[in-house]
Amino acid sequence: MTRKLILFIMALCMTMMTSCKKDYNALFGEHMAELNKEGKFILCQKNDSAEHYIVYMDVDKIMVDTLGDSPKEYPLGKLNVHEYKATIQEGKFCLKSFEAPSFTIKIDTLKKEMTVSVEGQEGWFVTTKFSDIKANRDYLTFGFDAFNEDTRSVYLFLNEKLDVYVFEPYDGIEEKEKGINLSIFRPCTEFWNTIPTGTPEELYTENWKYDAKLDFHGNIISKSDHVTVYGTDIPTSAFGTSEINRYYSKITDEMNPYYYWNCQNCYKVVKSESKPESGFCESNFISGHWTVHSWVRLCKAGSLHTYQCQNCGIQLQTNDVPKMGACRYGANHVWNQLQ
Ligand SMILES: [Zn+2]
Ligand SMILES: [Zn+2]
Repeated sequence: MTRKLILFIMALCMTMMTSCKKDYNALFGEHMAELNKEGKFILCQKNDSAEHYIVYMDVDKIMVDTLGDSPKEYPLGKLNVHEYKATIQEGKFCLKSFEAPSFTIKIDTLKKEMTVSVEGQEGWFVTTKFSDIKANRDYLTFGFDAFNEDTRSVYLFLNEKLDVYVFEPYDGIEEKEKGINLSIFRPCTEFWNTIPTGTPEELYTENWKYDAKLDFHGNIISKSDHVTVYGTDIPTSAFGTSEINRYYSKITDEMNPYYYWNCQNCYKVVKSESKPESGFCESNFISGHWTVHSWVRLCKAGSLHTYQCQNCGIQLQTNDVPKMGACRYGANHVWNQLQ
């Protein structure tokens, strides 16, 4: 390409950019003036070099004007509602959207408020002021707290049609620059198809956490490969396999903590929740001096590994690595991992 041609194209581009900008500014001004004249409620608007849009309320719909041919309409009224759930289906872990009871959304342009009622739930409705709706080009969001229940978050994603998603009060939702971080918190019954016998009762009420990320249109763009409960990450692939039992044991150990204690005088090792009583220690009995036990904690009892002292042969089951402690046949135990 010749230098002249490049310069010509550059000049052309610049002219086009300037003229586009000018057009959008003028159009934006015109559209805003028109909407204000008609008394339309503007939910949000933007006019910069990258984006040009006005989102506003019409009599029975949400409108998105991108200053193109004609504004896009999102009719309200009766709408299908979805909810993301992390659950077990056919033994496998999955994150899916499920249908929730539908909403009927009506708006009052004079009072500048919107009423949402839930199908099949007598008296379940909330009225939200337009000014309390958070809106942008991709979605509208507001809180739903009928019947003094904890507030659910409602998102109206502006896709081809209005996609309504409701998030439970205990879901964690965090809007980030490049999407929405969703943390699903649910009791174990959602994750565990058949609850193994001997499951500690606390595990039923303990919240299990699963993380995913949504784009600004409500689609899942990434999801975690594990569920977290009681500080333990369970890989989603472990559900429906025997591997799950290993994690189950680990959580049970975490919930019922026992520790190995080692007396520094008589070398006795005991398993106990808390530090054993000082008590009478036989260590110096022969020499005629009485003493008390001097307990040090070796490690938390667990089920993942077995350690054995190569000098005295004592064995410990733990998920950690045992600390040093006085050994009958040496200064300290020397721990070897058996499994
Ligand atoms: Zn002792
Ligand atoms: Zn030892």
